[in-house]
Amino acid sequence: MDLKSNHASPVLTEASPINKSRRGLRAKLLLCSAPSASFLPGLLLTSPKMKHAILDDVRSATWLDAMKSSSPPPKLITKDIDNDIGASEPDVAYQTWMLKYPSALLSFEQFANSAKGKRIVLFLDYDGTLSPIVEDPDRAFMSDDMRKAVGKAAKCFPTAIISGRSRDKVFEFVTLPELYYAGSHGMDIRGPVRPPSSDDHPNSIRSTDKQGKEVNLFQPASGFLTMIGEVFASLVEATKDIDGVIVENNKFCVSVHYRNVDVKSWDKVVACVGGILKEYPHLRLTLGRKVLEVRPVIDWDKGKAVMFLLESLGLSKCEDVLPIYIGDDRTDEDAFKVLREGNQGFGILVSSGPKESSAYYSLRDPSEVKEFLNSLVIWKKSSAL
Ligand SMILES: [Mg+2]
Repeated sequence: MDLKSNHASPVLTEASPINKSRRGLRAKLLLCSAPSASFLPGLLLTSPKMKHAILDDVRSATWLDAMKSSSPPPKLITKDIDNDIGASEPDVAYQTWMLKYPSALLSFEQFANSAKGKRIVLFLDYDGTLSPIVEDPDRAFMSDDMRKAVGKAAKCFPTAIISGRSRDKVFEFVTLPELYYAGSHGMDIRGPVRPPSSDDHPNSIRSTDKQGKEVNLFQPASGFLTMIGEVFASLVEATKDIDGVIVENNKFCVSVHYRNVDVKSWDKVVACVGGILKEYPHLRLTLGRKVLEVRPVIDWDKGKAVMFLLESLGLSKCEDVLPIYIGDDRTDEDAFKVLREGNQGFGILVSSGPKESSAYYSLRDPSEVKEFLNSLVIWKKSSAL
């Protein structure tokens, strides 16, 4: 993989869609107020691609639709009376879906065969993967059993957590210093130190962590720090009268959680976020699990974070390396895609319902993730005998 040519300079991509009347203004804004070279070294402006989404009035309805369609009402559980097999409709749909995305547990033998003689590297999302999704994002704790499973896995394989949360927050939850951490959807990476070389990224610095260990910090969106803080404050103020909204500052991105907001007020959430984002052409909006995420418009995501970490570990050009990425969110798809397209590892989607994915395997929930990690460790130890 060639991080130098593909990833060394985060690329500022056009935020879109936009309505026609604003395109001219937006183009000027990009030229006049785009972050300069000192803002993000090596930054490259690209022509509008109409690819990402900044929210404006015209598109509010679209976002509301997307939020509703990603939160379908629970289906009625109906028995198959004719065959009396006792399977509910959702179960049948899930089992059919699993033909395409087999359970990593049920297919463990097949998985183990393909992993024979390879060096596994583990990448784990946090929320919904290692911890259950809960109403209060500040209380998304992982169980002690899960922590043990992750800790044991990290003794056998290089392991990194890649989360949308701030890096400090996700470390507070996991508390395992032997892991690598990437917060803010990969925009804040604490990775291994490597000898200085001409391949070093411009936003990469050596630092010492709280445990006194030397680490490499990589923050491709460092120039957005002030802007994100400003937007966080504006979002807190704008949404303060909407019951249930939680706005979370994840350092290089902001999450607006609407899990606890009455569905009738979701349009107000969209309007507030959209109103503020209009003033920030260099920020874009993405949709997660009952959360709107405000992120810098740079060409960096969890997939690129995976490649960066593999390279930092000196494992990017090794044929015998098998990266495994486990995650439940749309943002994890970037990592699944990178592994699938590079034909160099497996994505495992955590989902209790059928959904399209670039992953190869599936696991139903965090308890199955724990079981899979334990199985990996047992397999590793037995294959070393
Ligand atoms: Mg997640």
